[in-house]
Amino acid sequence: MKYSLRFLIILFILIFSHSDVMTLEVVYPAKNNHKTSAPSIFFVGNVKKGSELFINNEPVKIWEHNSFVHVVPLNKGENTFTLKEKINNKEQSTLKYVVTRTGKTNNAKKPAAVPVLTCYDPVTYHYGLVVTDNTPFRQQPDENAKRLTHLDSGTMIRITGEKGGYYQVSFCSDERGWVKKNSVIDYRVLKTPVFSAISDIKVDEDKYFNYIKIDLDMQMPYKIQEIENGLVFKIYGIQKNYADRKILNNFGNIKNIAINTSSDNTATLFIDLKNKILWGYSCGYEGNMLVLKIRKEPRVNKNKPLKGLTIALDAGHGGKDRGAAGPTNIKESDINLDITLKLKKELEKSGAKVILTRKDDSYVSLSDRIERSREKNALFFISVHANALPDGANPYKKHGTSVFYYHDGVFSLADTIKKQMLNDLATRDDGTNKASFAVIRPSMPLSVLIETAYMINPEDYSRLLDEKFRIKTAESIRKALETYVFENASIK
Ligand SMILES: [Zn+2]
Repeated sequence: MKYSLRFLIILFILIFSHSDVMTLEVVYPAKNNHKTSAPSIFFVGNVKKGSELFINNEPVKIWEHNSFVHVVPLNKGENTFTLKEKINNKEQSTLKYVVTRTGKTNNAKKPAAVPVLTCYDPVTYHYGLVVTDNTPFRQQPDENAKRLTHLDSGTMIRITGEKGGYYQVSFCSDERGWVKKNSVIDYRVLKTPVFSAISDIKVDEDKYFNYIKIDLDMQMPYKIQEIENGLVFKIYGIQKNYADRKILNNFGNIKNIAINTSSDNTATLFIDLKNKILWGYSCGYEGNMLVLKIRKEPRVNKNKPLKGLTIALDAGHGGKDRGAAGPTNIKESDINLDITLKLKKELEKSGAKVILTRKDDSYVSLSDRIERSREKNALFFISVHANALPDGANPYKKHGTSVFYYHDGVFSLADTIKKQMLNDLATRDDGTNKASFAVIRPSMPLSVLIETAYMINPEDYSRLLDEKFRIKTAESIRKALETYVFENASIK
């Protein structure tokens, strides 16, 4: 008897704790005592089948998969929320949440002293060497400020002042920006300015690329601007030893190149291309030779435009980085991977070669993702995500499909994908948006980041959980890539 009583107690505990797990689950906020400066927050989670939910006695709509997403306003200071789950008016479980709305600066400790700009004596010339590859040259001395260009390691820069942890750097009279001090070494002060000279400009080609090779006697900063039918390429701190002239006509995909050296020592190359659009480019130093690599327009098969093209697919997040969580606690990283694998199949059926930056639930850093996509000279880089929102936003107002790009020349690719997806998936138009995300910053491959739908909008979430929707998403992206290539490449 004693034994069976113990068994009953254990059984009771098991049932009790099991039903507890099967009941009200709050996925967001992830922890009690959440702090935010936003004027509202949303509760995201799920209830037991057939339950009703009340938050501070207000009924909450329960969606498919027993999920809920509920926006609540916040007063300044502590806000207490009581979440009550009921079946047939009988209370099942109650959770209490405290959310604190902080003042905007309450979170930060004592504000740091505002750094002051120190300008150097203009009669002396201060120089330094960049030591980190891909060092951002920013508009302001702030790590979130806009990137104006990037500097290769070994580049000589002229420093005109400093502020906080940044050097103010001048390329020429109207081109200034900021570089982090710890990316610069070999600081020296000279009595005269330093200039580099262009000794030779050559062109070269292989199956996929045209190369413009510029011999300098010192590595100087450069900047590339995309224009209608080509690129404008500026190299700073150059002796005026090249007369303004055309230096090349009709080579590979290059229509012509002209050069001009201005009085403030900037050499500008105007590169006119035969292509309708840019198919990607990159630039870097090989010793003191500056190599600009421009992808040739692909020649594609009329009926199978993707045949033979290499496409890199990037399933967002993975491993310890779960991405966003939906109301029933499905990970964004799993949804991204599933869509990506379906897209791989679609593209391979269309004859494309596919590279995956991850093929399982493993963690891959952003720089490794970029590195892996470069290995096989992919033409496109497609990063697949599902979206979420910060505190203060309303998931019922902001949801749907968006595609992000960084380089202006990639807008039309991003927009083609978004339009095709809206057409096939009937999601809300959440924009074709420019953003400085690390994975889409490279100018080769042509890179976009797709936010298929939102994890925290109940209707979008139901879509994402539906395999048919994920298959349709993959088909839609494949169709968009076919259209884009067919409309812009040359046809065999
Ligand atoms: Zn994501």
